[in-house]
Amino acid sequence: MPNVKAYSAASATAPLVPSTIPRRDPTEYDVQIKILFCGICHSDLHYARDEWHSVMPTVYPCVPGHEIVGRVTRIGSAVTTFKEGDRVGVGCLVDSDRSCPHCQSGLEQFCPNPIFTYGSPDQHLGGVTYGGYSDSIVVDQRFVLRIPTNLDLAGVAPLLCAGITTYSPLRHWGITKGKKVGVVGLGGLGHMGVKFAHALGAHVVVFTTSPNKKQDALRLGADEVVLSHHADEMSRHAGSFDFVLDTVSSDHDINAYINLLGLDGNITLVGAPEKPLAVSAFSLLFGRRSLSGSLIGGIAETQQMLDFCAAHDITSDIELIRIQDINQAYQRLLKSDVKYRFVIDMATLHQE
Ligand code: NAP
Ligand code: ZN
Repeated sequence: MPNVKAYSAASATAPLVPSTIPRRDPTEYDVQIKILFCGICHSDLHYARDEWHSVMPTVYPCVPGHEIVGRVTRIGSAVTTFKEGDRVGVGCLVDSDRSCPHCQSGLEQFCPNPIFTYGSPDQHLGGVTYGGYSDSIVVDQRFVLRIPTNLDLAGVAPLLCAGITTYSPLRHWGITKGKKVGVVGLGGLGHMGVKFAHALGAHVVVFTTSPNKKQDALRLGADEVVLSHHADEMSRHAGSFDFVLDTVSSDHDINAYINLLGLDGNITLVGAPEKPLAVSAFSLLFGRRSLSGSLIGGIAETQQMLDFCAAHDITSDIELIRIQDINQAYQRLLKSDVKYRFVIDMATLHQE
């Protein structure tokens, strides 16, 4: 059982620091992956700081990271789908019970017994699973994704969470040409939502609190950009949307965005703020509007999303960082100061 280098947090208030974690030797169906790049999702920060305590209390020490790309270094004796040297990815799930109706229909993210990439019971080593802020990982072949050869590896990492989390609801709600789609929050998830909605042919409007992101939003594929604190700009769009994707990571007035929906319009929450959001019944009653949520995506759909990205030449806009700068990156994430995803160059794990 090898020990590998990682970055971990010891408590909700502790910074991420260098550490060592165990990884199992590959069993029959396992793929061992040398991690080359790992994206930083806002969920990593929520989890490291135990902000989801009431739903999913953090187990310390924790090693976040679920936007993993790398190369296969070893395979188990029964692995047929991957070979040494392959470019692969791992997202938020590393296993599930594989037998429930959701697993059987490719919706592993809704399995009652999911094994998330970090913080879930580790059935092999005991304790909990450790994520991608580490040198390597060992994952059952069924939860490993194939990375298309034409895409830049570092830019692919965020697709494993930010990509699938925005692609899945856009597909579920039937977004196609002619639909008017709002994307709230231009961060890691939001900027992928804009790219996908644009590629699907929708008329895309970005709602942002950051005036300095306006030009970028248009470049990323938005048709219009609205500064959400400008009441007159907001009211111009009232009642006009088919679909709104809310990616906001902290407390905000969701009614302002529900009111953007037209008749039978839907707003889907993918953002997971620490505190509950207050919903005015009247925002939903008028217009028979609906509010729903969405959680990442299943393994087959994640592969479909990667292949869609290959066909449309889509990757994430990233800022590559050294792992030694991870705590500063977390600080900047809290200030919405990221364009548009931090990705860790994992080679820096071996530098002083
Ligand atoms: P992020 O990069 O930090 O982006 C969040 C964006 O929300 C910010 O860039 C900012 O955009 C906007 N924002 C922040 N605070 C705001 C406020 N108070 N009011 C209005 N807008 C605000 O985060 P992320 O990685 O994209 O993740 C977003 C959320 O999705 C997190 O809560 C994360 O945990 C969750 N998530 C959920 C899933 C899922 O499966 N459902 C998967 C991954 C992540 P502007 O500067 O444009 O305003
Ligand atoms: Zn994530």
